[in-house]
Amino acid sequence: MHNSHAASFYIKTNRSFSPIRSYAWILTVLIGIGGQFLPRLGLLVPLIMLALMVMSLFRGKYWCGNFCPHGSFFDNLLQPLSRNARIPGFMRSKVLIAAFLLFFMYNLGRRFIHVFEALGGAEFYDRMGLVFSTTYLMVLLAGGLLAITINARTWCQFCPMGTFQTLFYKLGKALGLNKNTDLKVTIAHPDLCHSCGKCARVCPMQLKPYREFKESSQFSDENCIRCNTCVNNCPADALQLATLAKTENIHANANLAGFKDASFYRAVVKKINHLNDNVREYTFKLVEPQKMDFDPGQFVLVETEPQIEMYRAYTISGSSGDHSEISVTVKLLNDGYGTNLLFNNLAEGTEVKLKGPLGNELRADPEGKELLFLANGIGITPFVSIVQSFFEQKDNGFNGKITLLYGARYEEDLVYDDYLTGTAEANENFSYYSLLSRPHTDQYSKGYVTDLLKELNPPDYTRVYICGTAEMATDARDILEHKGVHEDNIFYECFL
Ligand SMILES: Cc1cc2nc3c(=O)[nH]c(=O)nc-3n(C[C@H](O)[C@H](O)[C@H](O)COP(=O)(O)OP(=O)(O)OC[C@H]3O[C@@H](n4cnc5c(N)ncnc54)[C@H](O)[C@@H]3O)c2cc1C
Ligand code: SF4
Ligand code: SF4
Repeated sequence: MHNSHAASFYIKTNRSFSPIRSYAWILTVLIGIGGQFLPRLGLLVPLIMLALMVMSLFRGKYWCGNFCPHGSFFDNLLQPLSRNARIPGFMRSKVLIAAFLLFFMYNLGRRFIHVFEALGGAEFYDRMGLVFSTTYLMVLLAGGLLAITINARTWCQFCPMGTFQTLFYKLGKALGLNKNTDLKVTIAHPDLCHSCGKCARVCPMQLKPYREFKESSQFSDENCIRCNTCVNNCPADALQLATLAKTENIHANANLAGFKDASFYRAVVKKINHLNDNVREYTFKLVEPQKMDFDPGQFVLVETEPQIEMYRAYTISGSSGDHSEISVTVKLLNDGYGTNLLFNNLAEGTEVKLKGPLGNELRADPEGKELLFLANGIGITPFVSIVQSFFEQKDNGFNGKITLLYGARYEEDLVYDDYLTGTAEANENFSYYSLLSRPHTDQYSKGYVTDLLKELNPPDYTRVYICGTAEMATDARDILEHKGVHEDNIFYECFL
């Protein structure tokens, strides 16, 4: 059994995609702390309250995710220090939210009564400003403490300003004000979703958009602060913020090539092959249905947590000739949530749920005369499957030429090296080159896969398929374009 430290479900990731979101926290410090010395600074608060309420009529809690100075403070300054833990359920309960709103209103009302005693006097505006500034400071302190001890946006679960926005949003809905202005997280098409849960793992409000996409292409939770964090992190690149009117168009334009024929499979782990300490090849025997009609280069989803319907995407790295058995090759990440679950829970004989086949980008064209494959690290998996299909199973009549360039860090990371070397020796139309960036010995050349690429002169009709780190894919595309390969002939998938 594999032993691991507990990987965290929630991921700390950048949430500030605009200068306002990056620097609005300065206003919090200015009003909350500066206002204690210059109380009239607090008079900015009623203006902020007015702005957020008007905006919420049209866009729900958009303010919280895009303009709120406290939100910016929590996300930018405190998230790095936060435990980033799960927010306790009671902090999101309607009872607590209502009670806190009443408490807040009562307190503010009480202070206003005192301030209004000074109405007409010189001190009135200073005293009024101080009430607001002190309230701002309290939120900064209490919200800040919660941000560090629990999660950056814990305060936002019951913040009275957020509750006001929800109420005004409901009013806007009842009056039909936000039909054409409300931006919601929208999926291009539910079939594109990997059910990887990353949208839930990065969400500042700890919502679960992917769980709703089966029912609707728009995520309608009123607590969504329209912050775009899930949009920017979705590995399927399937999300955007859009109005209801735009959804039909988005749906119609979604590219479903390679995604339409997927279905769910019951399977059993037949064999686990330990390729090195951190990489395992899992072979699944398909139970129901008994065969998967896939193209090499496609991937499957492997269920990692049935309770929350969570899957991880893995490229098919091999299969039996009749496609009744398929293999995936998984690299364990030390702080990886899904890979730790797989390494701990899958044993030979374990039943698993799969979904597939999926993916279009790395389906190598068997009609191609000259194919160039570039892989680094665990990005070798699609090419192992393609080489097996084209040269071993010979089930698609391929008679072009393939060159595979494969880079890894150390000798032990070069998984499938023997298989690829042997296949290249047996097939003159398959050339295989590998190198290491940090070899322990001098048996391998030293360098990166892009160094090998620089030495090649591929004909301009070459179709190039790239899989590995985003950095390698970007560098490789630049080199290829300089060498005259047209961008329409370059295909890539990055999953590292
Ligand atoms: C189409 C496709 C095919 C794939 N094929 C393979 C394959 O054949 N073999 C394989 O091993 N993997 C493959 N993957 C990757 C795989 O799906 C998982 O992403 C991978 O196994 C890690 O899962 P995890 O849950 O353990 O890691 P996670 O817990 O998701 O974390 C991964 C790492 O990234 C960091 N991280 C994650 N998201 C963010 C973020 N937004 N901001 C900052 N840091 C972040 C984490 O801290 C961690 O270091 C594929 C992915 C795709 C999309
Ligand atoms: S692919 Fe992952 S991040 Fe994107 S919508 Fe689906 S579950 Fe969410
Ligand atoms: S669902 Fe997406 S847009 Fe909404 S709060 Fe969560 S991360 Fe932000």
